[in-house]
This record gives sequence, C-alpha cells and structure tokens, in this order.
Amino acid sequence: MNNYDVVVLGGGAGGLFAAANLNCGKVAVIEKERKLGRKLLATGNGRCNLTNLDMQTKYYNFSARDFIEKIILKEPSQKLIEDFRKMGLLCRPDSEGRVYPYSNQAISVVDVLVSKCEKSGVEFITDTRINEISPKNGGFELVSDKGIFFCKKLILACGGKVQKNLGSDGSSYIFANQLGIACSSVFPSLGAVPVDDKDIAQAKGVRTSAKISVLGDGNILHTEVGELQINEKNISGICVFQLSRYVSEYYANQSQYRNIKIAVDFAPDISFDELVRYFGTKKSSEDVFEGFLNKKLGSYLIKKSGIKNFSAKDSERLAKIVKKCVFDPSGTIGENSAQVTAGGIELGEINENFRSRKYKNLYIIGEALNVDGMCGGYNLHFAFASGKICADDINSKRKNNDKNKRN
Ligand SMILES: Cc1cc2nc3c(=O)[nH]c(=O)nc-3n(C[C@H](O)[C@H](O)[C@H](O)COP(=O)(O)OP(=O)(O)OC[C@H]3O[C@@H](n4cnc5c(N)ncnc54)[C@H](O)[C@@H]3O)c2cc1C
Repeated sequence: MNNYDVVVLGGGAGGLFAAANLNCGKVAVIEKERKLGRKLLATGNGRCNLTNLDMQTKYYNFSARDFIEKIILKEPSQKLIEDFRKMGLLCRPDSEGRVYPYSNQAISVVDVLVSKCEKSGVEFITDTRINEISPKNGGFELVSDKGIFFCKKLILACGGKVQKNLGSDGSSYIFANQLGIACSSVFPSLGAVPVDDKDIAQAKGVRTSAKISVLGDGNILHTEVGELQINEKNISGICVFQLSRYVSEYYANQSQYRNIKIAVDFAPDISFDELVRYFGTKKSSEDVFEGFLNKKLGSYLIKKSGIKNFSAKDSERLAKIVKKCVFDPSGTIGENSAQVTAGGIELGEINENFRSRKYKNLYIIGEALNVDGMCGGYNLHFAFASGKICADDINSKRKNNDKNKRN
C-alpha cells in the first residue's frame, strides 16, 4: 500500500515544484503539516516574491556561488517564470525586478502547484511527520508517526530550521545525520538584528530611510540603502535583513572577523559639511532636529552623542553621529524572525542535478542545502529551480529505462 516510485518528503516550495514536474509512476508528497505550502503562503508578506529578474551568483552565500552559477544557467528566472506560466500561473515583476504572481497573492502559487500535482495523480499525505529514513533494497524506508512508507526514489525537501511554526524544523539535518551525509552547522539569516543599546527603546517605532553598513573589524563589508525600522531591542527592515547574515555568522563562531558592528548614516544624501552648517543655525536640543529628522530619533541621537544642551558649537559632534551612528549587535538573529537558514547539507554531497553522490536514488533540494540567498526572491528561486532540475533528471532517467526495456 505504502510503496511509491518517488516520495517527495516536504510539501513546501521545492517539494511541490518537484512533484508538479515529475512524470514517473506512483508519486507521493509527504508533509508533516495539515496544509501544503504553509511557508509559501507567508512569503513576501503574503505576496510570494518567487524570483528576481536580476539573477546573479553574488546574491547567494559565497561558498555556494560556483554551484549556483550552474543552476541559474539551467534555470534562469525567465525560464522559471515560463515554467510557472505553463502551469497556469501568470507573474509580473515590480520596478526593482522582484517577481510576484500576477494576483499578488501567494495562495495563487500554492493553488497552481497543487492543481498541477493533482492532475498528474500525485498523492498528498499530509499531517504525517517522517522521523527516520533508512536505505532499503536500493530505495528508502521512511518511518512516520502514522506508519512506514517505502520508495524507490526519495526527494528530500524538508527545508531549513527557521520559523518552525511554518513547518521546517531542522528535520533535514537529522536525516542527513541518519544517512551519513555531511552537513555544516546552521544559523539563521535575513532577520532583525538585536542591538546592545540601553537608549534605543527611546526611538522605538521610528521608520526612516538610511544607509546601513556592516563593519568587520572596522572595514565596510556590505552596504544597503533603504528603510530602517527601530524597535525596542533591535533594528530591522529589509536593508538590515540583508546584512544580518554577517551578525549571525559571527555569533555562530564562523566569522573571520573579531568584531562586527552596524553603522547607520541617517542622512545619506546630505554631506557632513552641509549638516554642520545646518546644525549651526540651530539654538537648542529642542529645535535642533526640527524640520529634519523624526523627533524621537533626534532625541535618541542627541543622547547617543553625549551632548547635554545643544548649542551651535556642538554641530560637528552631532553631524558625526547622524552620519555614522554605530550599533553593537548583541546576539544572533532569532530563528523565529529569520527568513532563511544559512549552512546545511554540503553541496559536495550532490551533483548538479541535486542527486546524492552517496545514494543514487536520493535527491536533496531547497533550503536543506548549504545555500542561502538575499531578500528579493533568491531563496524561493533556488527552491523552485532545484525542484525542477531534480524532477527533470528523474524523468529523463525513467525515459531512458523505458527505452532500454523496449529495445
Ligand atoms: C516569513 C518568510 C518570508 C519569506 N519570503 C520569501 C520571499 O518572498 N522570497 C523568497 O525567495 N524567499 C522567501 N522566504 C524564504 C523561502 O520561503 C524559503 O527559502 C523556501 O520556502 C525554502 O523552500 P523549501 O522547499 O526548501 O522548504 P520549505 O518551503 O520550508 O518546505 C519544507 C517542507 O517540509 C516539511 N517538513 C519538514 N520536516 C518534515 C518531516 N520530518 N516530515 C514531513 N514533512 C516535513 C515542512 O513542513 C515544509 O512544508 C521567506 C521565508 C519566511 C519564513
């Protein structure tokens, strides 16, 4: 009963895309959650930023870039958009190249993938958590809380280890361990950065445009311009998310830097000299930021500068802090706020078709692997692309087998 040609373990982005593209015998998707694609529904603030027209290796972790180069050659964003179109999903990019479903609703993506799977006869086994995987008779035995499954080919698509409430709970790494597959340590990325600053709560709720840089031992490692959000104990916003990997890496003891800091320029389009002149026209702490920055932010910056009662002679000191306000990250970003897991199953364990080098009937795709991208559709692109490439490989092997049997 529970015998399948292919089991796709994990009904998330990569798993559903793989299943929707498979064309080979009896296929099941096994998913621990009651609903398929729960995380997909939460992506892009419910809009699902599924790829990006600007697809380059530099948007992925350094160690994965050679591998990613081959993947985006096989499955560039235009091809992924076309694959989705063939399934019935229309997409459109925003002005910055981020691609969303035409409906602007993540549910459209899940609906189209589920419909395509249903049309191909894929069986969905939900609310079933697999706890153990072992190789058996050339295939795999999967032990769940509801029974045992056997498959000739297994696609491991269990995701990473952030936002467990949406499904992926780190099972991928447990399975890797059970199967003797190498895995690097994992840490969360793309999230709010907690900062060590007793006064920051004073500016809580402020949202402002800023230029934000992450510094490693005093050198700029990466800079972003965008909206910065100040919260009670952390700073956030897409531009902070993009830098957060450096902070997590540092706290995971995997950084080459001895210290990591975040420097914010709250007036990136105003020069230091201009600011000094502007502050020179002001008289007191009360009016110094009037007509310029958010007042709560202004009070916080005055406090941080150490100025007691502002007068024109403090203009340079204040301009310095506005142009370079340095935050000390106080810890790693939280698994519950991060969007992606960095680290994971080593890329050396698979070939370019996501097939395991150790087990010829095992494929590993998506966030489980040691690949993490920046915000902008890069993580979903990788999950979908890996699903498509592995499905194509399985389909072509099946075709060849059928051909050989006929001859
Ligand atoms: C809030 C949020 C917003 C995001 N927004 C974007 C975005 O807009 N664009 C973008 O590119 N990326 C985004 N990401 C990242 C992106 O969602 C993930 O990188 C992507 O979903 C990974 O796909 P995956 O198939 O590898 O894993 P997942 O989508 O996490 O799917 C894994 C599935 O496996 C199931 N599973 C796990 N363990 C087991 C088990 N033992 N037994 C059975 N089933 C199991 C899980 O329940 C889950 O459904 C976002 C992430 C979050 C958290």
